[in-house]
Amino acid sequence: MDYLTGSAPSSSPCSAARHRIARLFVISGPSGAGKGTLIRGLLTADPTLARVAISATTRPMRQGEREGHDYFFLSRDEFMHRVAAGDFEEHVEFASHCYGTLKSEIDGLLAEGTSVILELEVDGSLVIRKRRPEACLIFIDCPADELQRRLEARGTETEAEIAERLRIAAEQSSEKHLFDHVLVNDDVEQSVRALRAIVQDESKEIA
Ligand code: 5GP
Repeated sequence: MDYLTGSAPSSSPCSAARHRIARLFVISGPSGAGKGTLIRGLLTADPTLARVAISATTRPMRQGEREGHDYFFLSRDEFMHRVAAGDFEEHVEFASHCYGTLKSEIDGLLAEGTSVILELEVDGSLVIRKRRPEACLIFIDCPADELQRRLEARGTETEAEIAERLRIAAEQSSEKHLFDHVLVNDDVEQSVRALRAIVQDESKEIA
């Protein structure tokens, strides 16, 4: 992930932004479905739409990732300490690593009047659904053979890790009916447009 995290313009918001409400969006789907690419595309097209809440993780930093930008990278001890302190809105173990959404990230942005995007695996998304029923859940799907091709091309996981992620992907796909929107990412440009339309529509103030 390498999101645009620049703040929204502080003066003269455009009229569209004035009529928007700050909402919580959860974007989920299999690893390799292109969640990060679509979120980047969405926020490049319109940086005022939302900001991404940075999660904490115990997984090692990948090449090109930055602390506090892609994730807050924590040791397992530090992560467990934050769990005990009640700092997480939800947290999961995924592919042998811990991932968690910090309450402070969500509440800080919503308090500023900014919509928030969480990029989560499915179990965490369904926890958010229970804890924050007003959240809008979007599932990004991708055919299994294409997923395998993308994960192999990404080259950030070993063969065994890719097999594990594909197994989890098949499981996660069976829960997509629990989401408000399902988007099949077979064409990035088209999917960014579709995602933008969903986010704009779901952020409209109801008169
Ligand atoms: P990756 O290791 O590829 O960055 O992320 C693995 C999976 O964990 C992805 O599906 C990603 O959406 C998910 N993920 C990232 N942060 C969180 C989080 O805070 N909570 C949950 N539940 N999943 C997360």
